[in-house]
Amino acid sequence: MERRKFLSTVGLGAVAVALPAELLATPVFDFSIDENGDFKGHSFPELPYSYDALEPYIDKMTVEIHYDRHHRGYYKKYLAAIEGTEQESMPLSKVFAKVSKLPAGIRNNGGGYYNHTLYWNNMSPDKTEPSDKLKKAVDDAFGSWDKFREAFINEAGTHFGSGWAWLVMDANKKLFVGSTPNQDNPLMDVSELRGTPLLTIDVWEHAYYLKYQNKRPDYIEAFWNVINWDEVNKRFEKALSL
Ligand code: MN
Repeated sequence: MERRKFLSTVGLGAVAVALPAELLATPVFDFSIDENGDFKGHSFPELPYSYDALEPYIDKMTVEIHYDRHHRGYYKKYLAAIEGTEQESMPLSKVFAKVSKLPAGIRNNGGGYYNHTLYWNNMSPDKTEPSDKLKKAVDDAFGSWDKFREAFINEAGTHFGSGWAWLVMDANKKLFVGSTPNQDNPLMDVSELRGTPLLTIDVWEHAYYLKYQNKRPDYIEAFWNVINWDEVNKRFEKALSL
């Protein structure tokens, strides 16, 4: 399906396209549930490397403050926002699927908690490569790897204000790029961009300002050097299998 058509089908507030139930029950996209699809509670995820591991692309102080203060802040505020509500015992994906009916504190902090977890895990200091299968899907969707890279970098670079850029797979297993404002993500029913998240970059200023100041494009180019393609390959395979 063309992206334009997809977006018009699932426009803001529409409920026409729901994610398949199986997708909501996979820990690859929801780390708050276990292998059996059962809710396992919330925990603040470990950073998969040291604060300085992504140098010189992403500097140590940025990673430390971003992870330990910003990310942890969203996590704590999310727990506070769901305390005593029925969302307290719900996986994140289930909360996101009906987030339009919930208080803004749940949407913003739940998104912040979830999105940053994906972000840290889709970066790595190790050299990794996209799989041949992923490259083929990218060629089919974008024409070439370079065109995909350009589209992703352009989306991240031109998203106005705070937010996130994504590579997602839609319900027809097609890849496309897009962005979401604030802490929204493609699993949320409020999002114009819907689908399975495969890769994401944080384009809030706190993600790059210490090292790159106003030069967001330089940060995005740097990010490209530390993408954990092993993780993206894994999410891609899982999304295909649903
Ligand atoms: Mn952030």
